[in-house]
Amino acid sequence: DDRDSHAPGAGYVPQSDFYKIEAIVRPWRLQHVASVSFYPAHRLTKHAGRIPSTSCRRWNVLLKKSALIKMGIRGVTVYDVRGFGAQGGARERYAGSEFTEDSFVQKVKLEIVVSQDQVEAVLATVIENARTGEIGDGKVFISPVSDVVRVRTGERGLKAERMAGGRAEILGVVEK
Ligand code: ATP
Ligand code: GLN
Repeated sequence: DDRDSHAPGAGYVPQSDFYKIEAIVRPWRLQHVASVSFYPAHRLTKHAGRIPSTSCRRWNVLLKKSALIKMGIRGVTVYDVRGFGAQGGARERYAGSEFTEDSFVQKVKLEIVVSQDQVEAVLATVIENARTGEIGDGKVFISPVSDVVRVRTGERGLKAERMAGGRAEILGVVEK
């Protein structure tokens, strides 16, 4: 079975080949979920042994991969948004960074379009990395996407959705 272990099967209505996962999360959790960070190699002495000395000298960086990148999710769109939920702006009123002029709370929205069999695994990863357990952790919306078009090539559907080095490739999914 080459489908993701979290595959929902026929769980989503209406059925679609692709779904959009919209996750609204705390801004400071974004780096755990989706960012690709560069660190000066000299600050990472505990990892120093793993950096080839040539690349260490040449680049002086270590690529730290986020949870989504690690699982082969390479297409992500991020928005800075402000919202109002149960948290209501009140809890972080005095915290500074998340408080805005009105009572809306600063959040980030991730939009990730994936094929159906990848939805549950991506959802699990987003939750695992965004969750603190406190009010204001955010919410995820999942909706069907009718088609995907790659602008560069004009490809449609699965050909457009698949990305080089992406999750399907990592899992060795054979395309029909
Ligand atoms: P190409 O092969 O032509 O580079 P690509 O499929 O890699 O095409 P990009 O042109 O790099 O796509 O994508 C442009 C932007 O579209 C990305 O920066 C990202 O914001 C968004 N994007 C691409 N794929 C997805 C996806 N599956 N889900 C959400 N956003 C995506
Ligand atoms: N599903 C794509 C793949 O397996 C990746 C999609 C994405 O990164 N959002 O290549």
